[in-house]
Amino acid sequence: AIVSESSSMQTSTLAALDRSHLIHPVASFREHEELGPIILKSGRGAYLTDHHDKELLDAFSGLWCVNTGYGQESVVRAATEQMQRLPYATGYFHFASEPAILLAKKLVDISPASLQHVYFTLGGSDAVDAAIRYITHYHNSIGKPAKKHFISLQRGYHGSSSVGAGLTALPNFHFNFDLPLPTQHYIPSPYPYRSELPDDAAIIAASVHALRDKVAELGSDQVAAFFCEPVQGSGGVIVPPRGWLKAMQQACNELDVLFVVDEVITGFGRTGPMFACLDEDVQPDLMTMAKGLTAGYAPMGAVMMSDRVYRGIADGAPLATVVGHGQTYSAHPVSAAVALEVLRLYEEGGLLENGRAMEPHFAAGLRALLSHPLVGDARSRGLLGALELVADKGSKARFAPELKLHDRIFQAAYKHGLVFRAFGDNILGFAPALCFTQADFELMFARLKALLDEVLEQPEVRQALR
Ligand code: PLP
Repeated sequence: AIVSESSSMQTSTLAALDRSHLIHPVASFREHEELGPIILKSGRGAYLTDHHDKELLDAFSGLWCVNTGYGQESVVRAATEQMQRLPYATGYFHFASEPAILLAKKLVDISPASLQHVYFTLGGSDAVDAAIRYITHYHNSIGKPAKKHFISLQRGYHGSSSVGAGLTALPNFHFNFDLPLPTQHYIPSPYPYRSELPDDAAIIAASVHALRDKVAELGSDQVAAFFCEPVQGSGGVIVPPRGWLKAMQQACNELDVLFVVDEVITGFGRTGPMFACLDEDVQPDLMTMAKGLTAGYAPMGAVMMSDRVYRGIADGAPLATVVGHGQTYSAHPVSAAVALEVLRLYEEGGLLENGRAMEPHFAAGLRALLSHPLVGDARSRGLLGALELVADKGSKARFAPELKLHDRIFQAAYKHGLVFRAFGDNILGFAPALCFTQADFELMFARLKALLDEVLEQPEVRQALR
């Protein structure tokens, strides 16, 4: 009784302090002042416990990052041992640490063969930011200084650095931030559910066409790079047809545009292979990653680049010219030690294999919900998936924003003990950890069905269905 009393007192105190002082990423400040936080306390495997001691099944791996699940003791040991031995080593100038060097070599071994050099960041946004800076440096170095324009996909997400947020094509990341920049441009997403084209081949051809048109409009000598996610994550888990990524790479090569794949979500087993690129033998010029690299146990991201880009920068200026890009915590030895152990768990610990074995259960569970009155589309690749809820399955009409369906879903999800992401446009995103068992999936889909049924029973929702 004492424990629960003190923990509930602590909860209300913490919630008040949170409302007063803690700014939350990607939240409405005013709405958060009203709603307050859900304070998470502990995690084990696929399950979280919050400050009210409520157990939650996490079907989103934190923020699509805890791909190993929570409570991996060997990762904790790797971090502790590195902290004891050497908690910090700068990567600046010519210093390095053993885990950072070994991790760079490991990433070169497991990524597409085109990628030979690694720069470590603290997460995905600064990996994208570093990619943009290196690309600019590269084109200036090789005598193509007019190449300053960047193209990305509508509904794309490439983090929230001050320039990278302009490659992100989601309205809240631009509103009142004076973005996009005049050098940032978008082409339509390959979005099968909402496409009127007859088949996958036509969707791929339309994307290639749109890229060619955009490059022709801007001038090939003006376009620096094309950025894309292999599966669009924060834009609503939009899964392009197989072969799309390869076709875009080929088009970029022909157009003399650098091809940058953002694998921040799709990397590290999320879609099956270690990187989604490997499925289609795609050889990017640059690739960004974060999240699953350390499975969220420590902050770290990376940008990898081809030898061509690296040599362009290296040889494009007099010998001792410093490439002025860096962060105090780049290649942090504790994060690198964590990443090495996390990668070992994916490979030798059987997590990649389990993720692939579980894919059919995940895909079938989502597809089974297509018969639910609220669900218009079910899509997935690997353990990355979504349900798209619609007011009318025939016309695919969305629910009116005033219904606030995603708030209703969010509240019902918490009540039923399930964590996932309810995006605007009534898309529910799922990214279960690679340690999920069949029993975890059964529980996940039982809770999901129950909460959808409950939301469907709300009179306003029933009325909105056509
Ligand atoms: N790129 C993609 C594809 C992402 O999904 C994200 C984050 O969700 C980022 C970049 C930004 O990463 P971070 O949140 O670690 O800064």
